Amino acid sequence: MGATLYRITDETATRMMEGLRVGKTPRMFAITPARLEAYLQTHPDYAAEARPLIAANAKAAELRKSAGKRDKTHCSRGHPFTPENTRLRKAANDPRRECKICERERAVHGNSMLPQSADRVRELLKKNARIGSFTSAGLTGYIMSHRTFLRLRREDHEIDMLAVKIIEDSRSRALRTRWLRVRNEAKREQSNDYYSIRAMLPATFPDKDDVVSAIFEDLLTGALRREDVRARVKSYVASHNKMFPTKYAKFGDSPLVSLDESLFDNGSGTRGDIVTRGLWD
Ligand SMILES: [Zn+2]
Repeated sequence: MGATLYRITDETATRMMEGLRVGKTPRMFAITPARLEAYLQTHPDYAAEARPLIAANAKAAELRKSAGKRDKTHCSRGHPFTPENTRLRKAANDPRRECKICERERAVHGNSMLPQSADRVRELLKKNARIGSFTSAGLTGYIMSHRTFLRLRREDHEIDMLAVKIIEDSRSRALRTRWLRVRNEAKREQSNDYYSIRAMLPATFPDKDDVVSAIFEDLLTGALRREDVRARVKSYVASHNKMFPTKYAKFGDSPLVSLDESLFDNGSGTRGDIVTRGLWD
């Protein structure tokens, strides 16, 4: 058995018992809990006296640890630790008391800071660091709260000037980004318009770009409203066909014909009508 190798001797146990009786703990004899437990389990009479002493001494030692702080009646800035002014930390292993007056003052005026903290902030600002990069709680670069930083700005003119410059830069950068976004959206909308208008034209229609540009021009001058485009596309195609009737000969097998020529004997409908209507009906 491995434990027998490190067994406490009776001599050590006797010495420890003398210590326990005057309030010492096993740790003060450099005896590990495992070795102690092994000895106690094999020596019941010894254990009967030792166990209560070990427990009581451990508790007393625990109380001694924080005695200095616990006996204080005032916080480090002199506010009284009255029940109303005291916040007890919930953590059982760190039952510190915190002063609520100090808490409120920190919230309003910022915390006290080390002189090197101000210098670290100064260096960061000279490198154009984002202010949030050292004032956001939880970030690895955290140096001080924003409230403390505001106080530092009031107290240190150079830091204030550096901060003003960084804030102005970031504001103008934000404006520029916003302006670019507006412009890109307008561009995107325009190109979307281009494709959606183009899609309204018959697939076989050869002069799509001409008609789309005519529509765009009227949109720009205000002669045509966007919501009317779909309804008016036909008439743009028709007027384009009227303006350039000869083009159609190139795409058909039939010889060049007049679009105004009557198709029927009774004179109803011209070839021009059939071109523009046929594309849509
Ligand atoms: Zn206080």
